[in-house]
Order: sequence, then structure tokens, then C-alpha cells
Amino acid sequence: MPLTPTDDRLRQLLATPLDQVRGVGPRIAEKLAKMGLASAEDALYTLPHRYEDRRELRKIAQLRDGLREVFCGEILASAETVTARSRRRIFEVVAGDGSGQVSLKWFHYRKEWMKKKFPVGRRAVFSGEVKRFGPTREVHHPDAEFLAEGQRVEQVLAADPLNFGRILPVYPLTEGLHQKAARKIFMEVVERFAPHAASAIPEPIARRRGLLPLQEALRQAHWPGNDASLVALEAGRDQARRTLVYDEFFFLELGLALKRRGVVLEEGIPFGVSHRYTKPLAALLPYRLTGAQRRVPGEIKRDMMAPHPMNRLVQGDVGSGKTVVALMAALIAIENDAQVAVVAPTEILAEQHYLQFHAWMEDLGLKVVLLSGSMAGKEKAAALEILRSGEGHMVVGTHAVLQEGVRFKRLGLGIIDEQHRFGVRQRGVLRRKGEHPDVLVMTATPIPRTLSLTLYGDLALSVIDEMPPGRTPVTTRVLPESERRKAYAVIERELAVGRQAYIVYPLVEESEKSDLRSASEGAEQLREEIFPGRRVGLLHGRMKPEEKEATMAAFKAGEIEVLVSTTVIEVGIDVPNATVMMVEHAERFGLAQLHQLRGRVGRGADKSTCLLVRSPRCSDEGFRRLQVMAESNDGFRIAEADLEIRGPGEFLGTRQAGLPDFRVANLLRDGRILEEAREDAFALANEVDFLTADDYAPVRETLLHRWGNRLELASIG
Ligand code: ADP
Ligand code: MG
Repeated sequence: MPLTPTDDRLRQLLATPLDQVRGVGPRIAEKLAKMGLASAEDALYTLPHRYEDRRELRKIAQLRDGLREVFCGEILASAETVTARSRRRIFEVVAGDGSGQVSLKWFHYRKEWMKKKFPVGRRAVFSGEVKRFGPTREVHHPDAEFLAEGQRVEQVLAADPLNFGRILPVYPLTEGLHQKAARKIFMEVVERFAPHAASAIPEPIARRRGLLPLQEALRQAHWPGNDASLVALEAGRDQARRTLVYDEFFFLELGLALKRRGVVLEEGIPFGVSHRYTKPLAALLPYRLTGAQRRVPGEIKRDMMAPHPMNRLVQGDVGSGKTVVALMAALIAIENDAQVAVVAPTEILAEQHYLQFHAWMEDLGLKVVLLSGSMAGKEKAAALEILRSGEGHMVVGTHAVLQEGVRFKRLGLGIIDEQHRFGVRQRGVLRRKGEHPDVLVMTATPIPRTLSLTLYGDLALSVIDEMPPGRTPVTTRVLPESERRKAYAVIERELAVGRQAYIVYPLVEESEKSDLRSASEGAEQLREEIFPGRRVGLLHGRMKPEEKEATMAAFKAGEIEVLVSTTVIEVGIDVPNATVMMVEHAERFGLAQLHQLRGRVGRGADKSTCLLVRSPRCSDEGFRRLQVMAESNDGFRIAEADLEIRGPGEFLGTRQAGLPDFRVANLLRDGRILEEAREDAFALANEVDFLTADDYAPVRETLLHRWGNRLELASIG
């Protein structure tokens, strides 16, 4: 009997430790634990990553290349041999069935055991992937089910219905646990526990989306029926998996929807608009705002005027002009006697922001302070006092701004730049520094929609989708290490006509273990051998802030012609006269990062070039990724490609804290289902009686269970 989803007995049942499952002894339990499987529920949601079609036996002559096939054969020859080319020992068995022959090979084996198991004349049912090498077909490390003397093959198949005559699940496993053993355990788990599973998704939604009952979906995902489509299964698009993925996304999005609704229900500061500072700013601007730069502040202004806290994400490619948009939001808060905090991910970026904001704010008669981790005690204390007293209108800084000792007289707006480097938690910290201040998050990394829906699903989104005029697309070339001279020639050509260049390295100092060329060593060599007579400067993260600033200023003033640096220049530096960038070991960078770096050139009216130098050890995947850079200047396109090639975890970097761990969903594959689940979840969360109606109690409870304490909403029960 399915229990209701909120029944405690169901929880207990699903929490059953795996060592209480038949066939799981302490040794196997330990192996499962290593894979992160402790409870029945864990196992239930560990779906096969592949399936094997063992519905029918094939004649050896009819085996299809590239597929996992099942066939019966007699052993015609059996011996250990040594390969001609690599001198490697292998064990080879030739099997035949009258229709043809196939070669079975083992690369890891115990010779005595193999000889005993595979004597000439013995018959077996084999299964494995068929590969073609010229005229011969081979199966490496096949499974073998031996036939006893005089036994018919049908008898073997009938004796093992778990492993033959059906579509078999293949589980992602660690060493020491074989598929056959795993299948037995997972079968046991599915039979015992799946029948009790039930989903809390309201019936009308389930019907509309064509979802299976949960117990049925779990059963079929592990053990598809014989009429299932193998193509759909392999693509992860069968109805069973769709149902499980939908279920997972639905509760994620429902939580995000409620978070958003929760914020909307909170009281915030209803800012008024007096244009006291925004109008003079418009007169100060040396350029005309782009359409997007006028539209997005409008969206922000509407949020800020509302009586609920703003929670908005502004996404705009490198150089799209986000700073002035942030400034306009800041001025609205300041017009209402509220303070503004701007948080940036690195010291250098915080300093850049400070300088930019400072220039405008000073002209408007407003006070900005800088706060960074490396500031001296006295200087810092003074800055803190200016904020506490309310004398300072704005603080710009690193995460130092989020620390406990930082207090405001009246914080009205928090602006977080480059959100992708922060966990979602920082937003909460900032919010608690004022009384429900507005929060604006800015990111230059275009985040593919599937990711932003899961990461920032509770934020309203504004996109700056227009570049300021006068920007020239950057031509990008990928060069092998052996052609680095060509890159130097391009740079020299630019320098000769008075332009400047960036040369970027992935590391600061040579580490013993790697042969990465470090920036400091590189600068030395460039100065002496490659560009003698040119002024070569060095910028890296371990320099003192004053040194960094001085170097940047010298580059900006044209006193440095070639700036050798680590990725500290990734963000913020703006030198239109720099028209060429060379990136060493380009394959070590993420594409989003390369795109950011590349955004440092192409800032003037002249044609710019980006040269990506790849090392000889760059993988095919790495090369494909770099090629994307050469083909596109569109940050969104690049981000999508990067996500596709590397997967979400890598894409976001290990520091990303906010990405949920999906049990069955796959963001690359399941974007469509995510959109559907999101639409349904947001509609449900916005129903007036969602938080109170008895009908929705199971949904609410499941939600609380899935989100645990991450929901931070006291109002649900
Ligand atoms: P990002 O979105 O990368 O933060 P910035 O705000 O730093 O971009 O702007 C990049 C450069 O473009 C700056 O030099 C800025 O002065 C300039 N800029 C911004 N908006 C415009 C505009 N509408 N017209 C011309 N230049 C602009
Ligand atoms: Mg910026």
C-alpha cells in the first residue's frame, strides 16, 4: 500500500539502513556507504546510468557493433597471448556458434583461474559490448554464464530471470561491487520500498504533465518493462525518469517561489523618488545611456518604491555598463537618507569600484568610504565610524563589509557585484545589517538559464542586453605553444603603432610540481629577450594594494606598454588603448573567465586581438572549449557551451555553495522539465490559500522535509 507522503511510517521505512536489506552484509554495506548510500531511500534514488538490452539472444554473425549484446557460444580456443605492439599480456578466448566467431579478451585476469574457467569445448551465455577491429569483432571483459554439460541455453536463461531476457539496469558503482551483486540489492530495495512511495504533487498537475505514480516511476526507472524504448532510456527521456526529475525540480522551485513570496510579504523601505541626485548625474554623464541602461534602472526603481524589499539580479556582459546602473540605484537610496553598501569579490575590484563611484559621488557632494581586509587598524576604525554615524553615504569593499563589526546608521541598499563568486548566504548577511534593505545582485558571468533558475530562482531578473556603442568585436585565435612567436609578432605590431598589450598567466609563482610559466618569471623573460626596449610591467595578486594601484595607473597612463599579470585584471581595468591580449596556458581557465579577460580589450574604436596559447598537453575537450572562444563573442553562447562541455559543478567552480545536489535531475538534459516544474510551482505558491489549505498540507510538509532548514520560512507548516 502506498502510504501518504507525510506519514511518519514512510519516513522511517525509507530511512531503513541498507544493512537491513536482504543480501547486504557489513562488507557490502561499507562499500555502499563509500558511494554515499546509507538508507533505502538513497538506493531507491540511485538510478542506473545505463541500461543493457538482454531481451534476446543474438547469433554471433548478427552481433551489432557498438552495442551491448547477449549471445551463446562454444569455446573454440583459449590462451594467454602477448600483443604484438605494446607487448602486453592478454587472455583471449575464441567463441563460435556455427554462424560465426568472436574474440573475447581480458586485460586484467588471473591466468590459472581463466584456464580453469574457459576450457575449449565449454559453452556459455556471454554479454558485453561488441567492438569491431578491422575484420574481427571483439568483446572485452564479457560477462559469462556457463552452461552445464547437456544443458540447453533456454534453461540457463530461465534459471536467472534477473539477468536475462529483459532490459537490465547498469548502476554507477565503485570497485569491488559487481553489477550482478548490485542488481540483486537494488532489486530487493525496489521491491520492498518503492511500493510505499507516493508523491505529494497535486493530482491535477501530475495529470497535466503526464507523470507516473511515484512508485511506478521508481520501479520502471530501475527495471524498465520489456516494451520500453531503449533509445528513450539511454537518453534519460523515458516517462519514469521524467517523472522523478519533475518531482525533484518541482519541490526545489516551490521552495524558491515561497522564498520570493516570503520576501514580497516582508515589509521593506518604500523609497520615494526626488531626483535630487539622479538628475544632476544625468547631466554629468559623458555619454548617452543605452536603451538597456535606461530600462533596467526603471525596473529597479519600481522595486525600490514598493513597500517590500527588492531582491533583483542584474545580468550584463562585461563592459555592458553595469556600474552606472548600480550608481543610479544607489542614488535613489541616498535621496531617501539611506546608506548603500557595495560588495565586490576581490580587493582589486573593490578598489576599482571605489575609484569609479568615488569620482561620481564626489561631484554630487556625497561621501564614499573604502573598506578592505588589508586596511590598517586606524584607517579601518575611521571608516567604520563614518558608516556608523551616517556621515558616509556609501561603503565599497570586499567581504570585509559583511563582517560583524560593520554597522550602519541606516542601510537601505546592498549591491553585490559578481555574485557567482559568493554563496547565496552573503545576501542574507547583508540583509540583516539593515531593516529589510533592498538587495541588488550584479553579475557579468552570463549564467545559462537552467542554472540561474536553480541558483537565483528567488531573484527577479533584469538583463542588460545591449552594449555601449563604439565597441569593436575582438578577433580571437587559438595557437599551439609551438607558434608562440606568431603571438609575439602580433603584439610587437600593435606596440609599434603605440598600442598596449596584456599578457596573462594562470599562476603567480612557479611551483615545483608544475611547469606552468609564472607571471613573474615570464615578465623577466619578456623584458629581456622578447621585447627588449619596451616597458614591461608586472601585476599580481600578492602585491601590496598601493603597488597594484601604481602599476595600473602607469599602464593606464601609457607608461607601461606590456602588462604581464595574473587574472587580477579579469575585472575592472579599463584601458581603451590596450588592443591585444595574450593568454598563456589558456586551457587552464574557465571559458567564462576567459571571456571576462578578453573583455579587457576591444574597449576602444580600434580592432583588437586575443591570442589564446594552449600547451601541448591540452586535452581534446580543452581544445574544443578554446575553439568556442574563437567562434563567439557572445557571453551567453560561451556560457552555454562551457556548461555543456564541463557540467554544472565545474562550470561554477568548486567554491560555489548555492547549487543544489540533484539526485536524478541533470541540468544539461532536463532544462525543459525544469521550466515546466517552475511554472507549476510558482503558480501553486501564489495561490492565496497555499499556506493554509488542508489539501496542500502534504505538499507543504514534503517541501519542508526536502528543504530542511534552508528554507528559513517560519510561516509554513
Ligand atoms: P561592466 O558592465 O563590465 O561593469 P562598466 O560599467 O565598467 O561595465 O562600463 C564599461 C565601460 O563602458 C566604462 O568605461 C564606462 O564608462 C563605459 N560606458 C558605460 N556606459 C556607456 C554608454 N552608455 N556609452 C558609452 N560608454 C559607456
Ligand atoms: Mg563592472
